[in-house]
Amino acid sequence: MDLEKLKRDFSYCSCGREHTFGLRAVEVGSGITLNTGAILKKNGFGQRLLLVADRNTLAAAEGIVPSLGAAGFVVRPQVYDDLRVADMKEVENIQKLLSGMGGVISVGTGSLHDVARLAAARCNKPLCLYATAPSMDGFASYNAPITDGCFKITYPAKTPEVIIADTKVLAAAPAELKSAGFGDMVGKYVGLIDWKVSHIVSGEYYCDKVAAYVREAVDGMMAMAGSVTSPDERAAAAVFEGLIKTGVAMSMVKNSRPASGTEHILSHFWECKKLAEGKRSDFHGKKVGVATLIILRKYEKFASFEDVDIVPEEIDWEEVRRGYGVLYPEVEKLNNPPVSHEIDPFVIKERWQEIRAAVKEQPSPRTVERAMLRAGCATKCSEIGVDAELERLGIRLHPHMRHRISLMRLSYMFREKK
Ligand SMILES: [Zn+2]
Ligand SMILES: [Zn+2]
Repeated sequence: MDLEKLKRDFSYCSCGREHTFGLRAVEVGSGITLNTGAILKKNGFGQRLLLVADRNTLAAAEGIVPSLGAAGFVVRPQVYDDLRVADMKEVENIQKLLSGMGGVISVGTGSLHDVARLAAARCNKPLCLYATAPSMDGFASYNAPITDGCFKITYPAKTPEVIIADTKVLAAAPAELKSAGFGDMVGKYVGLIDWKVSHIVSGEYYCDKVAAYVREAVDGMMAMAGSVTSPDERAAAAVFEGLIKTGVAMSMVKNSRPASGTEHILSHFWECKKLAEGKRSDFHGKKVGVATLIILRKYEKFASFEDVDIVPEEIDWEEVRRGYGVLYPEVEKLNNPPVSHEIDPFVIKERWQEIRAAVKEQPSPRTVERAMLRAGCATKCSEIGVDAELERLGIRLHPHMRHRISLMRLSYMFREKK
C-alpha cells in the first residue's frame, strides 16, 4: 500500500485539518511471514520484543518466531489460550511485561491487538500488527475499545507503526472471520449517515474527502461480496486493504466517526449486556453486520417522513435503569447532561431534507442485505445469540450508551406519527 501517496492526496485538505497518521508501513504479500523479522528491523524495532498472540493465531503465523530470531530479535512470548475480551487487567499486565522491551508485535487482531495497542501507547513503544484474518477494521485505527468491569470504553491509543499480512494466511482464515470483516465494513454506511447528520444539526467537524474515501473502500468491498469467503489470495488481499483504509480514515480524523456509527453502539450494548451475565459474544464484525441491517431499516423509515415535528428529548430514567441494570451508573454519567441538549430541536425540523438526503445517499437495507448473504454474513439476531428481548432492548436503549449524536438518538425527539 502506497502510504506516501495517501499522505500527499490528503495534504492541505479543504476541511482545514491536517490529516496525519502514524502508520509507517503496510506490507502485504504471499509468504511474507518469513520476512517479519527483516521488516521490523528495517522499521527500527528494538532488539527485545514482546510477542502477544493466542494459540490459534500463533499456529496460523507459522514461521514468524524463527523469522524474528533470524533477524536478531530476542522474543518474549505472551501466548493466551483464547482472549475474547480485551479488559483493563490485561492491558496493565502487558504494560508490566513491556518494561525494558524494544517494541511489541501482536500476532492476531481483535482483543489481542486492542490490549497490545493501549499498552504500547501508554508505554510509548513501537507496535507491529501481524494480521491473521481480515475479520475487522480496527487494524489501522487509533482507538482501542477496552472493557472495564462490564462496560466498554473506547480509549485513544495508537496506530501500529507497521502492519504485516501474509495473503496465504489471510486466505486460509476461517470463512466466518472473513464474513465478520465484511459485516464490520458495511457498518460504515450507517457511520457515514450519523457523522453527516451530526454535522448538519450540531456543526460537528466533518470531512467530505475522508467520508468519500471510506465510501469508496466499502463500495469496493461490496462489489467483491461473492468472493469474500473463497480461499483466493487476491480476494483476501483486496478485502484486507479495504479494512486498512477505513482504519486509516479514523486515524486521519483522530476519531471513529468515519467508520463507526450507532450500529457499533447497538452491537456494544448487546455485548455488554451478555458480558454482565457472564456470557460470551459472537465476533465483533458479525454482530455489527446484523446491527447495521436493523439500523438501515430504521433509517429508511425515518427518511420516508416528508417532515418531522420535534419535541425535546425526554428520557425515561426508570426504563433506562431497568434496561441497563449493573451498567446504569456509567450510562447515567454519559447523559449528564444528555447529548440532545447540544441540539436546537428547531434545526432538525429546518434541515430535515438534508438529513433525509444523507440517508438516501447510502445503499438501501435490501442492497446491503443481499451483499451480506453472498458474503456469508449473519443477517439476523438469532444467528448471533441475541434473543428477541435483548434485540428489542438494544434497539430501544443503545443510544444512551455514548455521548454522541446519531440519527437514532434524534429519533427520540420525533413527535409520534399518527
Ligand atoms: Zn479533510
Ligand atoms: Zn468495527
